[in-house]
Amino acid sequence: MNTMRLFFALWPPEDLSRALADGAEALARRFGGRPTRRETIHLTLAFLGEVDAACVSGVIDAGRRAYAAPFQLVVDRFGYWRHNDLLWAGCTEPAEGLRSLVMALRRQLRAASIAFDAAPRFVAHLTLVRKARIVRGEVDMISLEPLRWPCSGFVLVHSRPAAGGREYAVLESFPLPAAARC
Ligand code: ATP
Ligand code: MG
Repeated sequence: MNTMRLFFALWPPEDLSRALADGAEALARRFGGRPTRRETIHLTLAFLGEVDAACVSGVIDAGRRAYAAPFQLVVDRFGYWRHNDLLWAGCTEPAEGLRSLVMALRRQLRAASIAFDAAPRFVAHLTLVRKARIVRGEVDMISLEPLRWPCSGFVLVHSRPAAGGREYAVLESFPLPAAARC
């Protein structure tokens, strides 16, 4: 079977990914590890994993049916997961708009019988450094100037192995219709 590794994501605009990539490099200098390259910084909404290439059009259709309003994220904190040594950026305030989008996407994927990784608790995060070495609590001491991120669409991404990491190719973009505003 010919498969493709797929995920849905929010892709930050260039000014935001530039600021986050600068932050990632500074953090990696301080704590070690591998900073995420600017062009690969993203926020995963749903991870599908390996999908039969013949099913990709069904995945795109599910993305088109995921109806949610545009929203704004404020990226204002760092987090660290010890189990996989990931240092990430995220949001202090839970963003209702983001939650609605993730729920809409999950609903449509389930309706189309498309398998995905559905962690019960969705934690919005942008991976900044892999293999960072941080002491417990240390991450809470690092401040991040709040970065505003107006989100007006999401993407379906193909993840491929590449020299020194992964390469991501956007297969399809899905605008969030302003008409869906409440
Ligand atoms: P690598 O696995 O080579 O370190 P990566 O994790 O960036 O690279 P992928 O494994 O293709 O690339 O994952 C793509 C995105 O989906 C990443 O944001 C990753 O964190 C997320 N992801 C991967 N596996 C899962 C999973 N099982 N559940 C939820 N999200 C996942
Ligand atoms: Mg991975």
